[in-house]
Amino acid sequence: MSGQKPPFSKVLIVGAGPSGLLLALFLAQHDIPSIVLEAWPWLDTRLRATQYGVPATRVFRRAGLLPDFRAASIPKFPAICWRRVADGEKLVEIDMSVVQDEEDRMTVLQLGQMIQIMYRHCMDPEKGKGLIDIRFNHRVTATGQDEEKAWVDVDIGKEDEEKRHERIHADYLVGCDGASSAVRRSLFGKEWPGQTWDCRFVVQNVYYDGFEKHGWDGGNYCIDPEHWGLIARRGHGGLWRVTYGDPTVGLTDEEYLARRPWHLKAMLPGSPEPDQYRIEQTNLYNIHNRCVDSFKVGRILLAADAAHVCNPMGGYGCMTACLDVDGLADCFIGYYEGKASEKILDTYAEVRRDIFLKYVDARSVKNLNRVWKSNPWTVLEEDKFFGIIQELNKDRQALKDFLLKISSIEYDFKQHYDISTPEKAKGTANSHRNGVEVAVEA
Ligand SMILES: Cc1cc2nc3c(=O)[nH]c(=O)nc-3n(C[C@H](O)[C@H](O)[C@H](O)COP(=O)(O)OP(=O)(O)OC[C@H]3O[C@@H](n4cnc5c(N)ncnc54)[C@H](O)[C@@H]3O)c2cc1C
Repeated sequence: MSGQKPPFSKVLIVGAGPSGLLLALFLAQHDIPSIVLEAWPWLDTRLRATQYGVPATRVFRRAGLLPDFRAASIPKFPAICWRRVADGEKLVEIDMSVVQDEEDRMTVLQLGQMIQIMYRHCMDPEKGKGLIDIRFNHRVTATGQDEEKAWVDVDIGKEDEEKRHERIHADYLVGCDGASSAVRRSLFGKEWPGQTWDCRFVVQNVYYDGFEKHGWDGGNYCIDPEHWGLIARRGHGGLWRVTYGDPTVGLTDEEYLARRPWHLKAMLPGSPEPDQYRIEQTNLYNIHNRCVDSFKVGRILLAADAAHVCNPMGGYGCMTACLDVDGLADCFIGYYEGKASEKILDTYAEVRRDIFLKYVDARSVKNLNRVWKSNPWTVLEEDKFFGIIQELNKDRQALKDFLLKISSIEYDFKQHYDISTPEKAKGTANSHRNGVEVAVEA
C-alpha cells in the first residue's frame, strides 16, 4: 500500500459459483472485503465442468487452491484421445503422462467439489481473513448506480418463504451470476449476441466396468454426427462422466432421456444395454456461444458466464471464467493499493472481451465442429489440429512444452500498473499471444 486511504472499501459480487468465490478469495488475500450474494440456499451441485486446462491450473495455484484440488482429484489422467464412434477407432491421442509430474498440469475435478473447496477457503479465517461475507438465499432482482456507489435490489428468503426486500450498496458491483445473469439483464435486457446450438446436451455420471475392460482411460472425444460428445474418467471408484449432444430439436426432456440407451449403446465400448451400467445423476442443457457488448457499465462489471458463454467441448467455460476473475482481481488490487488508476477496470473489460471473441469463442466452436460436423472417416487427414498433435507426438519434450506453454487466453493485468512496483521491475507481464495451442486446453 502507498500509505494513502484506499480508493474504495468493498466489492459486491453476485453469484457464489466458481467465478464469484474465486474473485472474493483473491480480493481477501489483498485485504479487500467483499459481499457475495447467492440466490440458492446452497452451492451448485449440477453436473457441469470437470476439467480445467493449464491456464486455469496456474490460477488455482496462485489462489492457493491447487493442493486441495489435487487431493480431491483422481491421481492420474493418462491421455486425451479422439475416437470415431462408428467403429470405436482411436484416431489421435495426446499422451498426458509427459506432464504428470508438473504442478501446472490440467486439473480434473467435478465443479461441485471444486466450489465446495473454494467455499471452505473463503470461510477459512486465515485464507479468507474474515473479509468475505457470503449470503445464501439472496436473489438479485435489479441493479443501479450513481457516481459514488453501485447497488442491488435483493429478494431474501428461502423458496417457500415470503421474501424480504433489501437494497445493498458497495463501491463496485460484479456480476458473476452465470449464464442467466440478472446483472447482465439489468444492463442489457435480453440482448446477448451469439448463437444457441441446435441440440440438447445430455450430461450424466456413469459407472460401467466396460470402460476398463475395453482399455479406455482419460478423456475420449467422440466424433459422430449423431453421437458426438466426451466420455472421461472423472472420479474415484470408477466414476465416469458421459456427455453427448442429441442433435434432434424440440423434444421434451423425457423424450431426450428415452433416447439415451440408443446413444450410450453407440458410444460406450462394448455397446452395453442399460442394465450393464449405472447412471447416478443427469442434467440437460441448451448450449450457446454468446458474448455481451461490454463487460463494464460505470461501476458495474461482468465476468465469466455472466459476460460470455461457450459450448462445453474443450473445457473453455470455467477456465475462461477463472482467468477473467484472476485478471479482474489484479485490476481491483492494483487500484486499491495505489499502483493503478481506476482506468484499469476499463482495460479489464476491453482485454477480456477481446480474448473471448478472438480465441475462446473461435476455438470452442472449432472443438464442437470437430466432434459434431466433421466427417469421422476423413477428419484425421483434414483437420490441421490433428496434424499438429501427430507431429508433437514424435517428440516428448516438444509435446510437454506445448501442453504447458503460456496460452493466448492468459493475460497479466499487472503490466498496466502505472506506478513502478517490484513485480513490474521483475517483468511479470506476459503475453496476449497468438498461438496454436488451440484445443489442448480441452
Ligand atoms: C455440461 C457442461 C460441461 C462443462 N464442462 C466444462 C469443463 O469441463 N471445463 C470448463 O472449464 N468449463 C466447463 N463448463 C462451463 C462451466 O461450468 C461454466 O463456465 C462455469 O460454471 C461458469 O462459472 P460462473 O461462476 O461464471 O457461473 P455459475 O457456475 O453458473 O455460477 C453462478 C452462480 O450465480 C448464482 N446466481 C444466478 N442468478 C443469481 C441472482 N439473480 N442472484 C444471486 N445469485 C445468482 C447461481 O445460483 C450460481 O451459484 C461446462 C458447462 C456445462 C453446461
